[in-house]
Amino acid sequence: MDLPPYSANNPHSTWLEIDLDAVRDNVGCLSAISERPVMAVVKANAYGHGLVEVARAALEGGASWCGVARFEEALTLRDAGLECPILVMGYVPPVCVPQAISCQISLALYDRDLGEDYGERARSAGGRLRVHLKVDTGMGRLGVSPADSLDFTRWAWRNQDLEVEGLFTHFARSDEPDAPSNPSQRTAFQNVLHAIETEGLRPRWVHAANSAAALYMPDVRYDLVRCGIALYGLDPSYPECVLPGGFKPALTWKATLASVKNLPAAHGVGYGHLYVTSREEKIGVLPVGYADGYRRMVPNEVLIGGMRLPVIKRICMDQSMLVLDGLSSARVGDEVVLIGCQGDQKIRAEDLAASWNTNNYDVVCGLAARLPRVYKNSIRTHKE
Ligand SMILES: *Cc1c(COP(=O)(O)O)cnc(C)c1O
Repeated sequence: MDLPPYSANNPHSTWLEIDLDAVRDNVGCLSAISERPVMAVVKANAYGHGLVEVARAALEGGASWCGVARFEEALTLRDAGLECPILVMGYVPPVCVPQAISCQISLALYDRDLGEDYGERARSAGGRLRVHLKVDTGMGRLGVSPADSLDFTRWAWRNQDLEVEGLFTHFARSDEPDAPSNPSQRTAFQNVLHAIETEGLRPRWVHAANSAAALYMPDVRYDLVRCGIALYGLDPSYPECVLPGGFKPALTWKATLASVKNLPAAHGVGYGHLYVTSREEKIGVLPVGYADGYRRMVPNEVLIGGMRLPVIKRICMDQSMLVLDGLSSARVGDEVVLIGCQGDQKIRAEDLAASWNTNNYDVVCGLAARLPRVYKNSIRTHKE
């Protein structure tokens, strides 16, 4: 649904605004920079932004694939009517194979026993399962070792119930441009690919680059780049690997000020009374808590009235309190920004990540399901 901007008719106390034009334009930036087809990585509810809406916008912006982590996520995209190629990059239970075939969903394959099981189930279902073979060039997660990759590839091509559509790997430190594991992973993958090509077994789609690698490691772009974080306009890492100009964050987190009142001096505020007023203070209540993904024990900051004001710990489950001294105009109903811009002030997901001692991925993926997602520009408002 497209909602009007903040107004007295806004039915939500706190909500996320997702700018789908930003998603479309970010895909455009990724295509222009990488000069490759883009797989929009929309796992984990599109990093908290909303799976179906973001996937649709990414495809409108020029993405040609969607990448997800779980089979259920792929089914949700198909149920919504999306017809693009989809790759599930994580483990999929063999019982899902018939549905993967009927829904034309491609699966990662990185284990021979699992592959045998997939093959048998594909045969019983009377179809062929599309697979992307995964090589572990150094991540230490899913994938066959480079030493076993050629044999594994030969075996997969021989299995008539599998259709070998892709070959891929994943970098452990692509967001650290100077990490020595980057060239060694690249070399390992290159060697595997060379051996496979020599035997004429190269699949159609060879891919290795996530956002950071797509932007900053031009020689690992191969046939397709798998981009998540950059799609959302967020930095792969900060400060080592920031987005170039042109990208725009898609997500804004807002809330409405729920209460404003003066408390006398020496008054405790919130559970545990970790904050005690030092004089008469104006205290506001924000309808946002740790059950929304706001960290409990961190003194956060929000934007209100164009000012940056402190939120007091502890954060409660559904609410939190802020010190409004210095903002004489504060009223119930005022717009509060937790992530995004207000006036000339800005709080980025990266800023919250720094104070929460984590990364921006974790901040946005942690935004709770109960936060309403309000989509802006559901209909494309401009063209590249
Ligand atoms: C999540 C993921 C990506 C996307 O990574 P970003 O850093 O968000 O671009 C790409 N490939 C794999 C295998 C992933 O798990």
